[in-house]
Amino acid sequence: MDGSVLECSLANDRATVLLGQDIAAALRNGDVLALRGDLGAGKTTLARGLIRALAADPDLEVPSPTYTLVQSYETRLAVQHFDLYRLSSVDELDELGFDEAGKNGVAIIEWPEKAGSHLPAGTIFITLEHEGDGRRAVLSGPEAALSRIARSFAARDFLDRT
Ligand code: ADP
Ligand code: MG
Repeated sequence: MDGSVLECSLANDRATVLLGQDIAAALRNGDVLALRGDLGAGKTTLARGLIRALAADPDLEVPSPTYTLVQSYETRLAVQHFDLYRLSSVDELDELGFDEAGKNGVAIIEWPEKAGSHLPAGTIFITLEHEGDGRRAVLSGPEAALSRIARSFAARDFLDRT
């Protein structure tokens, strides 16, 4: 398979937010992030940490787009945060401007399974699952994108030690 994998344990909420910050630092225009995991896996927590970091505003309101299906933000990059759980059919994706996802800015997509084949090539997948009281995250996708994110992890580990 063309691509690579990164894994990390997230002991608590704070760790999920930090993962979001690390990913945010590595993101570029055109990146699409698909957040997979059951209800309560931590997808919105991760998206919130990520969007707040991109906005450089730790208090920015980042509601779950459960009912609106999409919420947009003007940050360092234009962000579209999707939650497709309540999507009734893929036809509805057009109305949401989903096909523009990641063409100008970045897209963060909860319940990406609902988009089926509409997910763009090069999507970075982040799967969250329960691990004890915490969570485990597995990132997979194009090697270039994953190594950008890995460098961002390494930069924080270095800062943590100093
Ligand atoms: P989802 O969007 O996947 O349904 P949420 O982000 O709403 O999930 O999170 C569900 C719950 O899990 C929240 O109470 C959140 O604080 C908690 N949570 C997030 N990350 C972790 C973690 N690493 N360890 C323990 N609880 C977490
Ligand atoms: Mg959610």
